[in-house]
Amino acid sequence: MRTFSFEFFPPRDEIAAVDFGINIGRLLRLSPSFVTVTFGAGGSSRERTFALVDYLQNKVGLNTVAHYTCVDASRKKIEEDLAALHEMGITRLMLLRGDPPKGSDCFQTPTDGFANASELIAFTRSLYGNHFSIGGGAYPERHPEASSAEEDLLNLKRKVDAGCDFLITQFFFDNSRYYNFVAQARAAGITCPIIPGILPLTHFNQLERFVRISGAHIPDSFLQDLETHKGSPEKIAQIGRAYATAQCRDLLLSDAPGLHFFTLNKSRATVEIFESLMGTV
Ligand code: FAD
Repeated sequence: MRTFSFEFFPPRDEIAAVDFGINIGRLLRLSPSFVTVTFGAGGSSRERTFALVDYLQNKVGLNTVAHYTCVDASRKKIEEDLAALHEMGITRLMLLRGDPPKGSDCFQTPTDGFANASELIAFTRSLYGNHFSIGGGAYPERHPEASSAEEDLLNLKRKVDAGCDFLITQFFFDNSRYYNFVAQARAAGITCPIIPGILPLTHFNQLERFVRISGAHIPDSFLQDLETHKGSPEKIAQIGRAYATAQCRDLLLSDAPGLHFFTLNKSRATVEIFESLMGTV
């Protein structure tokens, strides 16, 4: 069955928490299949992530997926954290390697820890069998550290074989990149759902912040539109929403297994896109 899901991050302070509360109320009216909560770089948000996961799962009653990374964590620490999530009643995890901490260029395998997501996933399976449904990250335009798309795909296959039930992709703006990637993954023997990650661009500065860093290709006409209107925040938001809506419609018509929205804890873009998709959904 198709899934519609939202990613949140733990609000940083009380003011952000109030704003988040309002936005989440609006998003929940869309009845998501599940929601996910990110885990800050280097475990920096562990307490806030776990508190939000607990709240959404047990107080709000949502199917909540906890992101978890193995940056800076020993096996013992990971075992304790998994036990805490298990205790909370969490049955779905998004297991990631995580990015190198700020100031460091490359990922350092922690002492008695793991070098990549596959190892973390295999470890989790060895402890909990099939208790958790496990998701992993996938990169239609290849992971920035991978030396080639082919090598990245081989590593992705290893990750799925280690125990992934589903994959969620990094955001992309050119659907043809996603379709090619899915075709290559299927040819490599990856059969699990590959859920496209959608980032509605709503501010011009997101181009720099997210897109240029991730290396996602932006089709020329979309880029030109954004650049032409960069002085008008409202117009940029409108262009971003219209683009993401068209992207989502095309994905649904092409049988994507769902849509996963990187909401950035905001609601307007996602709600409007959903409303425009009624009928396609
Ligand atoms: P891996 O699958 O381990 O891959 C990392 C790199 O190592 C790739 O280049 C891969 O090709 C290579 N590799 C993998 N296995 C091997 C192997 N056996 N031998 C050699 N090379 C190998 N980050 C956070 O900190 N918190 C989050 O909450 C978070 N959420 C995310 C959600 C989604 C949907 C996505 C797509 C990413 C998310 N990230 C998050 C970012 C992620 O942590 C980074 O992209 C990170 O750099 C890679 O994580 P991964 O799990 O994909 O790594």
